[in-house]
This record gives sequence, structure tokens and C-alpha cells, in this order.
Amino acid sequence: MIPSVLPTYNRAPLNFVSGSGTWLVEADGRRFLDLGAGIAVNVLGHAHPALVDALTQQADTLWHVSNLYHIGSQQALADKLADATFADTTFFTNSGTEACEMAVKMARKYHFDKGAPERTDIITFEGSFHGRSSAGIAAAGSEKMTHGFGPLLPGFVHLPFGDHDALTQAAKSPTVGAIMVEPVQGEGGIRPLPDACLKGLRDLCDEHGILMILDEVQCGVGRTGKMFAHEWSGITPDIMMVAKGIGGGFPLGAVLATENAASGMTAGTHGSTYGGNPLACAVGCAVMDIVAEPSFLSEVKRKAGMLRQKLEGLVGSHPDVFEAVRGSGLMLGLKCKAVNLDVVNAGYAQEVITIPAADNVIRLLPPLNITDDEIAQAIARLDAAATALAS
Ligand SMILES: *Cc1c(COP(=O)(O)O)cnc(C)c1O
Repeated sequence: MIPSVLPTYNRAPLNFVSGSGTWLVEADGRRFLDLGAGIAVNVLGHAHPALVDALTQQADTLWHVSNLYHIGSQQALADKLADATFADTTFFTNSGTEACEMAVKMARKYHFDKGAPERTDIITFEGSFHGRSSAGIAAAGSEKMTHGFGPLLPGFVHLPFGDHDALTQAAKSPTVGAIMVEPVQGEGGIRPLPDACLKGLRDLCDEHGILMILDEVQCGVGRTGKMFAHEWSGITPDIMMVAKGIGGGFPLGAVLATENAASGMTAGTHGSTYGGNPLACAVGCAVMDIVAEPSFLSEVKRKAGMLRQKLEGLVGSHPDVFEAVRGSGLMLGLKCKAVNLDVVNAGYAQEVITIPAADNVIRLLPPLNITDDEIAQAIARLDAAATALAS
């Protein structure tokens, strides 16, 4: 008999009932150190007082009004994003997938309105992840996600990761309108795009009038030690997809854009019932107020350096389990020699949570306010997990 929850997930036998900071409490009372943060979602950990306050105050005041009306917290969050980023304007969604849908529509409408309706193709890269909607799976294009779900949304050109010649060639096509890329691939196994490549991509886009869409759903919102990952390279995109961390655990996504890139999205061209609702935007504002602070981001960088150094040590002590550390900031991956799922399970036995990714990697995406002591505990637990696995 089919379970009453549609079984699209292989769930671990864990049932968390409460959380506080970097800790999750299982129904049986065990306390787990959470290095997954809901897959890069709970950027301020669980039950952060400022987020709880923002949500409960808004809940006492007003839950929902339609986007037919002005929404104060939505306007406030859009202003904060405009202040903190390249963006002139923002459309709010409830998820990263919806942000992907919007980004695709925005790019196509831009070229359509500029008199180039043939420029519908979007270049994407092998190993990418842009969500599970029809546009999202067509964008990423992997067999694993698309198998059985055809016909797929047309207009995506899939290139190998890091193949400059293929990219230069593909960008010359008169039907290409946009390039969509994660500055650091998350699901693909924590694969950062080198800064020089991001700069090269920007140049290529400028040369051919292609819109650059960055998917910062996983790597954005302080994760790499900058507010957004592309800031490390000094370039700015035309369109950016955001979700996960921006809501700190409340469903919230966004598409940020320059005035020019957004020019096709006039009244009536797109909409969302829940996107930009008062509850989500109140929490989003509270997240921005904390994470966008330079002192907060410099702490992320400091702790990221510490965690990375300790992980290098861990790899050195367990060369039969781990191969290498990679990633950026507090978006780190351990490339495994053992089977990554076995490492994740061995972690559960030591009450530490990590997340598997492609390319036999385990991901460490802890809350950005993880403490020094918790970093030390994380390493001790991963060390114990690796020892148990090797014996
Ligand atoms: C998670 C993710 C998405 C999809 O976001 P959802 O909120 O799950 O719809 C898209 N792109 C990237 C890079 C992601 O990590």
C-alpha cells in the first residue's frame, strides 16, 4: 500500500521535533548537531529569537493580503535587497523553483520586447540544479530528474561544466538569450565556479547581448561569506534567483533584476497568490537585518576558515574515508572515498547531520551563526563517524 505521504523521498529514520540554534532534538531525545540547516535554509539556526519575534508579531497583525494591494513588509524587503545588491527590482516567490520559472520568463520576455523573439535559448551546465518544476528539470537536464517527465520545456542548451570552448561556441548562436548558472553548484557536489570563469561569463554575455542569470538559491544570503557569492568575483548578474536562506526557514524566494533585464515584466505578465506575503517578508527582513551586517559576514568568513582548516586535518587523518575538502565559506563539501551515503549514516550514529550531494560528496552547510565550540564538536563527531566507518 502506498504510504499516506507520497514516497518521493528516501527518508532517514529521524523525526526531529524541536530545534534551537545549531541543534535538533529527535523524538527520542537525542540532540543532533545540524550541519545541514535544512539544506542551507536555516541560516540563523533553529528558533532564532529575532526571526521568531518577526514572525509572531506579523502573525498577530496580518497574515495574508493579495498582491492586488501594497504589502508593507514586501516593500521593505525589496528596498533592503536593492540596497544590498545590484538589483533595481525584486519579484517575490515562495521557493527557488518558482524563482527559476520567473527568471526564465523574464529573460525570454526581455528579448521578445527588444525585437528578438528568436532568442529563447538558455545555456545551462552539467551538474546544475534549478528546481523540480518542468522548467527547472529542463534547465538542469539530467537524466535522473527528467526521466519519464517529457515532453520537456524546450529551449535549454546543456554544456559540460568548465568547457570554455563549448561555451564560447554556444554563445555565438543567435537563438541564445540567457545563461543560467550557480556560482557554487550545490546539489552537483559543491563545485565552485572560479572567479575568473564568472568574469569570463560576464564578458561573454556582454559581448553577445546575453542575459546572465545567477542561481544563488543555495550559495546566496551570506553562505560564502559575502551577501551573495558572485560578489567575490566583482561582477554583477542581470537576473538572480534567491530562496532557501533568505527566509531563514520560512518559505520565501525572490528574483532580483536590473531595471533593464526586468523591463518586459509589466503589469499582468506574472503573478503569485502567496509570493511576497506579509509573514514571509517580515521574516526575510529580519534575516537581512542580521546577515547583511558586515560584522556578521566577517564572522562567517572567520568561522569558514576555521572549519575548512579542521576539515583538511580530518581528511588527512582519514585518507581511506575522505579525499578532499572543497567549496566556499560555510558551503563546504567533503569528497569521499567511502560511499557518501555511508558517511552520512555514520554521522547520524554520532548525532551529526550532513547532506549527501552528487559526485560522492557530503555537504556541510551549517547555520551561519554556528559557534567556535560547535565547529570543534562537529569535527569530533565527524572524526568518530569516520573511525567507525573504517573499522
Ligand atoms: C534548492 C535549489 C533550488 C530549488 O529551490 P526550491 O525552494 O526547492 O524550489 C534551485 N536552485 C538551487 C541552486 C537550489 O539549491
